Amino acid sequence: MSQHIVLLAGDGIGPEIVAEAEKVLTQVNEQFSLGLSWNHELLGGAAIDAHGVPLPDVTLDAARKADAILLGAVGGPKWDAIERSIRPERGLLKIRAELNLFANLRPALLYPQLAAASSLKPEIVSGLDLLIVRELTGGIYFGQPRGIRILENGERQGFNTDIYSESEIRRIAHVAFQLAQKRNKRVLSVDKANVLEVTELWKQVVTEVSAEYPDVALSHMYVDNAAMQLVRAPKQFDVIVTGNLFGDILSDQAAMLTGSIGMLPSASLDQQKKGMYEPCHGSAPDIAGQGIANPLATILSVAMMLRYSLNAPLAAEAIEAAVGRVLDQGLRTADIFSEGTTRVGTKAMGDAVVAALAG
Ligand code: NAD
Repeated sequence: MSQHIVLLAGDGIGPEIVAEAEKVLTQVNEQFSLGLSWNHELLGGAAIDAHGVPLPDVTLDAARKADAILLGAVGGPKWDAIERSIRPERGLLKIRAELNLFANLRPALLYPQLAAASSLKPEIVSGLDLLIVRELTGGIYFGQPRGIRILENGERQGFNTDIYSESEIRRIAHVAFQLAQKRNKRVLSVDKANVLEVTELWKQVVTEVSAEYPDVALSHMYVDNAAMQLVRAPKQFDVIVTGNLFGDILSDQAAMLTGSIGMLPSASLDQQKKGMYEPCHGSAPDIAGQGIANPLATILSVAMMLRYSLNAPLAAEAIEAAVGRVLDQGLRTADIFSEGTTRVGTKAMGDAVVAALAG
């Protein structure tokens, strides 16, 4: 049966970058006879303008039925003043929750051609290729009880609950080990087990799950050390698995090791490996409509989608290789431009990837 994708362009630069990703999708669909079909739906500010809500039922229904979803980005100043519960970002949180997308995959891959863009020395980051697997639907961001209360002495007190059940830890650990099997067969589990009981359990359960993957080496690290090692010697890592809070911070830190947020794709998967794929960056309202946004993070999100949800690894590899060739040709959008390279706009970058695929 043919597989179907829902494209959610969203707001700001979203429509511009998704248009280039769609060109690439069209090319690989033909070139690799994938038989994929797709349609567009609205999410975020665009959906608020058309339907008054950031996640219309028609979008959610289409996303539920689809095999995969490709998102540009949502949000922008136009919708910042409206009531919090119907802001664009709420649409994004709701679709992730409704589809139970508990596994967030954030690769930090530095193309050697862009090593100079990193704030770290090229020899420390050149060739960096690590994958952070972050638990996305549990932990302290969702734990109850939570709130701000007034104590008897009149002082205000804020509190949250960091909570993980065994099954939540088990399922994200399986995702990490299975991904490591397809990579360099190493998993690092990040915790703070010396202080937090919830992560003591995390460490125990990940260790139990590791028995099912004898071909993958498991190690553990406290989060403070992991943050330090990510800056000191990031190439030591393969797959890093961690909870929602630590993953949020470490994945942004890892992203910046690569120097450009315009290059980084991400995936959020459910238990059946259905997923939503999106660039790590936001809707960049400051450059929207100018035709200068970097479409490569979205194009690389298409590659992740083909690999993880649509079972087309060869097409995924072809896209990643095509991006490498375009960088070899010296083509750069403004965010990754440096002396001696050729500055191009969003469309020209997308066209160059399509040409590299076809050539
Ligand atoms: P941002 O990622 O949109 O932009 C940060 C900076 O990076 C800006 O200077 C922007 O021009 C630049 N940038 C981002 N993507 C780029 C690209 N592809 N090419 C070239 N330059 C790029 O973050 P922000 O400015 O904090 O947020 C802007 C809006 O995006 C907000 O409304 C925010 O809520 C939303 N947002 C959405 C998502 C999402 O949809 N997943 C994620 C983060 C932020």
